[in-house]
Amino acid sequence: MPPIDPTDIDAAIAALAQGRPVILPTETVYGLAANAADPSAVAAVFEAKGRPRFNPLIAHVADAEMGRAVGQLDARAERLAQAFWPGPLTLVLPVGDPALVCDLARAGLDTVAVRSPGHPLALEILGRFGGPVVAPSANRSGRPSPTTFQDATDETGEFAAAGIDGGPCAVGVESTVVALLDGPPRLLRPGAVTREALEAVLGPLAAADAHAHRSPGRLLRHYAPNAPVRLRATEPRAGEAYLAFGPALEAPGVFQLSASKDLREAAAKLFALLRAADATAPSAIAVAPIPDEGLGEAINDRLRRAAGHVG
Ligand code: AMP
Ligand code: MG
Repeated sequence: MPPIDPTDIDAAIAALAQGRPVILPTETVYGLAANAADPSAVAAVFEAKGRPRFNPLIAHVADAEMGRAVGQLDARAERLAQAFWPGPLTLVLPVGDPALVCDLARAGLDTVAVRSPGHPLALEILGRFGGPVVAPSANRSGRPSPTTFQDATDETGEFAAAGIDGGPCAVGVESTVVALLDGPPRLLRPGAVTREALEAVLGPLAAADAHAHRSPGRLLRHYAPNAPVRLRATEPRAGEAYLAFGPALEAPGVFQLSASKDLREAAAKLFALLRAADATAPSAIAVAPIPDEGLGEAINDRLRRAAGHVG
């Protein structure tokens, strides 16, 4: 394949139309994108990631209008889309036109996950392509998500026919996933749209993570570096790398998530620092305690999975 020109938007759109995967910047993490309606394009994404086929993909749309073709938005979904799109919120809905997001992308379910990403280049590509695009994180399955174009091409660039460099991802953790099906709304995955922000629109949500296991693909060890991960560590042990949160000595092997304890800064740096720490081949990556409020809920969710602590 010819080398990727990371500024060539026409080439990215042409590749999508030809059913070939494209590295796509979003505000959350870099995605490996493909035409959601094309089963062989979607299959190429599953193969490139080594992703289990029972794990459904999110359909990315240019706007709420495209979202309404893909899924059925009830009044609650409309309110959330109005409040948070474009942005890091995925809605799981009854499927709309099933041909727009093929069976393989939905893992055979009669529901569909939809979001409109808050990144100008992603929106331009989606708008000009004119249909929904699956775009799971561009890492090999189970590994930390890429938050720079370089990390994305290191992971799955060999499978991509095109790719766009949109700079480092502003959010850095994957979208919040909320199911709006029969019964009350359910938070399936915490993310940058916090529980508090959702409750401001929807009213109180069900108890924390009570149903999270029902979201397919919430696998035990995910987002994982090669080294083991040790959580809530107040300091590193000999041989360990350390992800600090708050003031810390500058030393080799110490990586700062946020000296000022800013959760946004920590989320944006999380995966890049896990990769950087891993590259020093430590005995383990120790991570400082992170408060479990606001965006901290999403950071701790990813860290527990990186450590293999949740199912
Ligand atoms: P990712 O692994 O970042 O591509 O995110 C996809 C997430 O959306 C996973 O947690 C999936 O389980 C969830 N998801 C996608 N489609 C559905 C669906 N139809 N029903 C429930 N969860 C879904
Ligand atoms: Mg992923």
